[in-house]
Amino acid sequence: MNYSKKFRVEEGSKVKLDEIDPSYKGEHEDKASAQGELEKHAQRLHDLQYLMYAENKRSLLIMLQALDAAGKDGTVNHVLASMNPQGCRVYGFKTPTPEELAHDYLWRIYQATPRKGYVAVFNRSHYEDVLVVRVHNLVPEEVWSKRYDEINTFEKQLVDNGTHIVKFYLHIDAAEQLDRFKQRIDDPNRHWKISESDYTERRYWDDYKRAYEDAISKCSTKHAPWYIIPSNHKWFRNLAVSQIIADKLDSFNMKFPPPTVNIADIKKKYHAAVKEEKK
Ligand code: AMP
Ligand code: MG
Repeated sequence: MNYSKKFRVEEGSKVKLDEIDPSYKGEHEDKASAQGELEKHAQRLHDLQYLMYAENKRSLLIMLQALDAAGKDGTVNHVLASMNPQGCRVYGFKTPTPEELAHDYLWRIYQATPRKGYVAVFNRSHYEDVLVVRVHNLVPEEVWSKRYDEINTFEKQLVDNGTHIVKFYLHIDAAEQLDRFKQRIDDPNRHWKISESDYTERRYWDDYKRAYEDAISKCSTKHAPWYIIPSNHKWFRNLAVSQIIADKLDSFNMKFPPPTVNIADIKKKYHAAVKEEKK
């Protein structure tokens, strides 16, 4: 199954989240039967990220957005577990600091964009500025409503300069969220994750749904597509996200850079060193 095709939101289409089944799990019944495929994509992610780092020509920006407990942290963990941390950066965007608020909303984002050869993962992103900001009227509508175009322009500029972008919305339903809140309560090791805002934000579910539908519909572009990932099953979410990222990296047709030395000369030096060592 080609999940890039299946879950990509085509430019100009109108997203209705209620029409997308968050429990979808494709051709696999459970995690055990998906294990082989999960491992295959993990290996591909490993090899392709190594190649991108060596090539040092372009970068990849992965954005994760979702409601609380939908699995942003788990996805970061899964995807990056296959990659060499040397070429990866993760940024979590929280409530803006006073300094961040004193600048325009893209200021903090720009500084976190990946340099050539690197993968950056954004756990939340500038989309919060048309999500939580819209739902809670943190700025007037005339301000946030202009941001969709601004975001498209910003992302296009990054892409034109060698940063590839993929954006994931992790789609769960309200019952699954409640189930995960319960797991957090039942497991003392997860108590630190619980916040009051989990429960206050849950009351705005429909407002968030509308805000997400708008953001995804207006900002899924050919150059920076949104993917809506059914995420009630964590293993399926990991499978789909890792396949899509691996396919993206694969599409770059990357090559290792040519050696900076003359390999024939280096071989002679190596053999001379071996001889010297045996003496
Ligand atoms: P968490 O990801 O659970 O650590 O929570 C981060 C919090 O920061 C969430 O409640 C977000 O809604 C909030 N946040 C992130 N970006 C913004 C923003 N631009 N404006 C206001 N709140 C934000
Ligand atoms: Mg949270």
